[in-house]
Amino acid sequence: AKGAGRGKHCFYEASMHSEASDRQVLENDLRQAIDKGELWVAYQPIVSAAGEDVCGFEALVRWNHPLRGKISPEKFIPLAEECGLIGRIGTWVLETALEEASKWPDSVRIAINLSPIQFNDPNIVEIVSNAIARTNVRASRVELEITEGVFLAEGDTTDETFAKLKDLGVRLALDDFGTGYSSLGYLKKAPFDKIKIDQSFVRGAASTTSRNSAIIRAIVTLAESLQMDTCAEGVETHDDLQLIRELGVSHVQGFIFGRPVEGLEARELAAKAVVV
Ligand code: C2E
Ligand code: CA
Ligand code: CA
Ligand code: CA
Repeated sequence: AKGAGRGKHCFYEASMHSEASDRQVLENDLRQAIDKGELWVAYQPIVSAAGEDVCGFEALVRWNHPLRGKISPEKFIPLAEECGLIGRIGTWVLETALEEASKWPDSVRIAINLSPIQFNDPNIVEIVSNAIARTNVRASRVELEITEGVFLAEGDTTDETFAKLKDLGVRLALDDFGTGYSSLGYLKKAPFDKIKIDQSFVRGAASTTSRNSAIIRAIVTLAESLQMDTCAEGVETHDDLQLIRELGVSHVQGFIFGRPVEGLEARELAAKAVVV
């Protein structure tokens, strides 16, 4: 039994080692990915629930790895956060997305995801304001999506950052709402303009149980009384869309209206967007 245990131990060690070096290889690849032009930004339409007009797009980063093909941001964003690359990648996404948005009609918004680490970077306000100045995009068109992770990674400057970003005139959205802890406290604390209702409440809401629709209804009531917009993420079916509308959610994002597309295609969609 001892021998078998030792063998097992060796086996685990070997696989742990290959996992670690695999990670190391990926990290090195990611380090060079921007310079090699392997990263690009996709844009997914965000649509008004009532009229189906395109109101804006969410910027979603993509990585085409030369050997491994497409790698999901669910995989490489956490890696970037752990190995100190998120600042560089995040700034690149911000600048690329604002550059793209500068080619759209002035009424069309651009939403950008900020990692908690980026948000708590003491230079974040300067980074955002520089990108806005450089691209000439009206600040109120820019919506920064942050998660509750911001508060968990809270630094001395978190409250100040909220105030300064609002002073710049950008909008703030609370992303993945409902999936973390004590979200209500965060709503009280920070001046959000929009709540993004997590896909886990949205997808299949019409067919599964009434629980999801009760939760969505409660979020909408809360958001309305705090004068915030709502966006339902991950709407794929007409049944879910109809329910979302009935529940009074103001914006919709999901494959039913469009998948994330590349810049050129987003530009065409944006040009067709109704100016409101
Ligand atoms: P997220 O911010 O919640 O973004 C929404 C995700 O849901 C996107 O996945 C989008 O493609 C997907 N989605 C939208 N509608 C539907 C739908 O109807 N059905 C389904 N099945 N999926 C839908 P994506 O692009 O793979 O991004 C995953 C996550 O990676 C994002 O979740 C976000 O947390 C992170 N991420 C992506 N781009 C960036 C970025 O530039 N910076 C940071 N910090 N994080 C990013
Ligand atoms: Ca998001
Ligand atoms: Ca989300
Ligand atoms: Ca998510």
